[in-house]
Parts: sequence; C-alpha cells; structure tokens
Amino acid sequence: MLKWSIATVSMGGTLEAKLAAAARAGFRSVEIFENDLTFFSGSPRDVRSMAGNLGLEIIAFQPMRDFEGMPEPQRTRNLERAKRKFDLMAELGTSLLCVCSNVADNAIGDPARAAEDLGALADLALQRGFRVGYEALAWGKYVHDWMQAYDVVQRANRPNLGIVLDSFHICARKNPIAPLAEIKPEHIALVQLADAPGIVMDPMSLSRHHRCFPAQGDFPLTEYLEAILRTGYRGPISLEIFNDQFRGAPATVIARDGMRSLQITAEKLEDNRKVVGQPPITASAALPPPAKIGGIEFIEFATSSHESEALTALLEGLGFTLVARHRSKDVDLYRQNDINIVVNREQDGFAHSFYLVHGTSVCALTLRFDDARRALERANALAATTYFGRVGPGEAVIPAVGGVENSLIYFVDDTPKAKSNWDQDFIFEGDATPKGQLERFDHLSNVVRRSEFLSWILFYKAILGFRDEPQVELADPYGAFFSRVISSPDGSVRIPLNIAEGGSTGVSRFIDSSGGGGIQQIALSTHDLFAFVEAARERGVRFLDIPDNYYDDIEARYDLPADTLDRMRELKILYDRTATGEFFHIYTTMFEDRFFFEVLERRNYDLFGAANTPIRLAAQTREQDLAQQQKAMFEY
Ligand code: MG
Repeated sequence: MLKWSIATVSMGGTLEAKLAAAARAGFRSVEIFENDLTFFSGSPRDVRSMAGNLGLEIIAFQPMRDFEGMPEPQRTRNLERAKRKFDLMAELGTSLLCVCSNVADNAIGDPARAAEDLGALADLALQRGFRVGYEALAWGKYVHDWMQAYDVVQRANRPNLGIVLDSFHICARKNPIAPLAEIKPEHIALVQLADAPGIVMDPMSLSRHHRCFPAQGDFPLTEYLEAILRTGYRGPISLEIFNDQFRGAPATVIARDGMRSLQITAEKLEDNRKVVGQPPITASAALPPPAKIGGIEFIEFATSSHESEALTALLEGLGFTLVARHRSKDVDLYRQNDINIVVNREQDGFAHSFYLVHGTSVCALTLRFDDARRALERANALAATTYFGRVGPGEAVIPAVGGVENSLIYFVDDTPKAKSNWDQDFIFEGDATPKGQLERFDHLSNVVRRSEFLSWILFYKAILGFRDEPQVELADPYGAFFSRVISSPDGSVRIPLNIAEGGSTGVSRFIDSSGGGGIQQIALSTHDLFAFVEAARERGVRFLDIPDNYYDDIEARYDLPADTLDRMRELKILYDRTATGEFFHIYTTMFEDRFFFEVLERRNYDLFGAANTPIRLAAQTREQDLAQQQKAMFEY
C-alpha cells in the first residue's frame, strides 16, 4: 500500500503550524526541508518529538546541494558537511538524505566521478544506518534528466543509494515516462509528486513559483505514477510544492488541498487499475463517485428591503415574474422558463450575514444532482465544509457545502419529487411556470482571490467532478486578468473562474466593492436576442454602451447583412463567430459595481465570446469612471 507524504516546504508559516496542519489533513509522513529546521527555534530532537506526538513519520531530510563532482578541497569539505547532516538526521529520527544534482559552475561533468562521490557518501551513511537519494534537478549543471541520475546510481552500485524521482523535473524536461517502469524498485529512494501549468517558462522559475498539487496543473501525473507502480515500488509518495501563493495561505488549507488532490489522484489510479482487473493499491478509502450534475436549480441573492427594489426591478425588466413567496421568510422566487432566482431579504441568518459583508450579491448557487446524497457524501469524504440551513416547520432541508467567499452551494436531487420542495417552502400565486424570452442559465463567472485560485479549481474538480480548460489571459483597460473555465461533464454548468494580478482591473474592483470574490456575471440564454433586447429596453433595462468603433470593426471583419449590423449597433449587441457558429450577446450595466447580467444567443457556438471581453471591460470601466466623476462632482 502506498504512503502519502508532504514536504514541509509546500506550506507556509512556522514548522509547528505546518506539522499540525499536515497531521490534521490526514498525513502520516512528512519530508523536512532544511530551511524549516534552520528557522525553527527548538532542537532537531524537539522536531522529532513534535512530529511523533502528531503521529507523523519524518521520511526524509533535504536537500544536500552541490555535492557530487566537486574539485578538491570542496570534495573533502562536502563529505565533512555530510557527517554533520547525518548527526542532525539522527536527532531528527529520519534515515534518508536527499541530494540534488550539482548546479555549481565549477562542478566536474563526469558520471564516473559523480558515482564515486555518491558512493563515498553512501558508505558514510551506511555506518549510521542511513540511506541516500539522488535527484536530477531539471537545471542541474550536468545531471538534469532522471536517466542520467539513474546511470550515476547504477554506477555507484551501493545498497543504500537510490534515485529520487520528482515528477516536476521529469515532466518539465519532457523526459520519457514509460521507461521509469524499468527501474529496479530497490533503486528508488523516494518518489515526489508535483504538478505545474503547461506554460512556457524556464524550468527553474516554473519550479520555484508555479508548482502546484496534482489536478491543479497540466502534467501527466497518472501516467507517471502508473509507470512507478509498475516497478513494484511501494514506498512514500511525497508532495513537494514550491509556490508563493501556497506559502501565503493558511497551512491548514494547503494541507487539506494536498490531501484532497492525492485522494482524487488515488481514485484515478484505482479506476484505471479496475479497468484492467488489477487489485487496489492505495491505502485511501474509496471515494463515493461524483454524482451526475443536471444543471443549476436556482441562484439566490442576499439583499435588504431597501436595496431589493432595484434588484427586483432589474429582474422584472429581464422578464422574470414573481411567482411565489416563502412560507416563513422574507424570501421571494422569481422565475422564467427554467431559470429560478431567489431574492432573500431576511434580517438574520446566513443570507443576511452575507449581505452585510458583500452587499446585494449572489449568496448561493444550487446544483441539481442525480444523487444529491452521494454528492454530499463525496464532499464530506474530501473534507468540504457542509451546512444544513435553518428552516421553518415542515420546510425542506437542503444540504450545502461552502463555496467561494463563504457563499453556499446547495445540493438538490434532479427528480420531479425534488421539484416539489418548492411547494413545500413557497406559496405560489398565478402561473407557476411563466414563459419568457430567457430560457436557462448559460454560465456564471466567478471572481476569486488570486491566492485561492488553485484551491477553487481543485474544489470544483475534486468535489463536484468538474473539468477544466486551459487558462487564458485577457486584457483589461487597467491591466490583465486570467480566466479558467470549469464545467460539469455534461456542460450544463459552466463557470469561468477569474483572477486579477491586482491594480484596478474590473476583477480587482469587484473584489474591492464586494469584500472578496463571488459571482460577478450571470449569463442567461435566449433564442432571439434582438427581440429580447427590444422588449427589455421597453421595460427600462439599461445595457452597457458599446462604442460605434466596435461596429465599424465588426463590419470590416465579417460580411454581416447591413440590417443585422444596424440593429446590433442600435441595440448594443456584441458578436463573435467561429468556423461553425455565431454568437450574439449583450450586458446589462453594473449593479452597484458588483454584478451584471449577460444575455446571449448561441447559434451552434460553444465559446464565451472572449474576443469581446476587452470591449466589455473597457465599456464597464468607462461607465464606472463616469459614475465616480459624477459622484465626486456631487460631493464637491
Ligand atoms: Mg524534488
């Protein structure tokens, strides 16, 4: 059975906090990074007892740098240095020393000499009952591929010397993975696991700042682990992540994410083994498989009695009808075809707390599952925070998990019976299923804090079984932001997650005005956008002003019929096209600098109109700047 581990360098804070977080997340072993020990105020013996009390085994101490292939007198000095490390390891209670391939300019590029030096080190270690692991750094001076490191290890041929395999170096260098399966298991000292985004960058910068947990990046880690398991290796597999954002986050969150990523990595491995009839190999308990998502049942706005007027006017302008009022709460249901929007004006409870922190905004999202109970069991197994809201007598209990910025994601069954929950909680008046021009939720853009971006990607993928698309960068008049679309396997729920690098981009301003991340854009679909916009304008909805230049550009780029283009220009409708389809869309003006609606018509088009995002951002910026100027004049 496999032993999951985490390197202390993956987390931020004090060594005490890191070890406690690792233990709390369910780890039973850790690698101690030398700096963590150097910065620790107690002795290595204290670390040993602290780890022991938390039930943590220290599987390795690292790194020993620039060791092999050094000219004299450094060579002799390095062996002396190693003896001191062994003393320290004895106190620490660990038996494996990890040595990284040499990066020094004056190193000697001779594998025989490297083997001789590592052999001498291994012989010294053997006297103390220790082992040595040798790892090829992707930017090593002479040894940078695992094949070279393995060659050195085989040449040295010592029983206590093995190779350290780190997925980062192997994948960053695009080393062959399948031949890993040929390594003799007794020659593997340790296996390290790290993912990274598939961006072009020198390996050292990528390694030091952008490593991430499995499932947060693009490396072929399942293939990597499968090759290693084929060797027969059953020792520790350790997360070793260098990431500035991770070190800036609470250690408990990072340790939890680390374990979560390993749980779904194990799930993938076991699923693949099952297909070929192999027995289970990981110690982790099997997760309940993700439940099938069937769409968004409703979104809920937290608001107050005085702010709700503008919100409900906007909803009615968009064609929604107030169809029901809650039996016991100040909560209304607005509906149009398959779109449910709940407006919550309660004076206490979850929505009210959310309103106090974030203003009028979306406080909850409700997803339909083929088996909501199993979805919740999976969330629990992956350490999600679960909630059961306060309800009145006889009202439905809807379980929820914590989402971005303490919003809620409710889980409901996608069955006709579950639909009756509405009747249980709400009193309907008139037509309960009013038609309208808007048909369904198309997507919801979610702004997240940069420091939490990877955490939320992992949340949606692990807990809800979402898939992600590659990250894209988009221009904003005041900077840039990054977006990664995550979606349910059936495509019924699609959420672009957006982060900004700071400054005053639209994404950053959303974070400022909303007191954190959240849903910024609610995109709804229609089958006739032109007719919808005309009717909505009649009802007083204000749409984002788009400059004439945009339409001149569209006219030059596409051979649109003149009357279509004239109507787009008049109504402020945006346009995009692919080889197979067309896309028409429009944005409402911002509600209190916080959120806006997009209404779109897809004609065999599956993207998000990203080509028009800079136009939208520029128009929103202009609108916000104008509003601020007017406010300043008024205050003056
Ligand atoms: Mg490593």
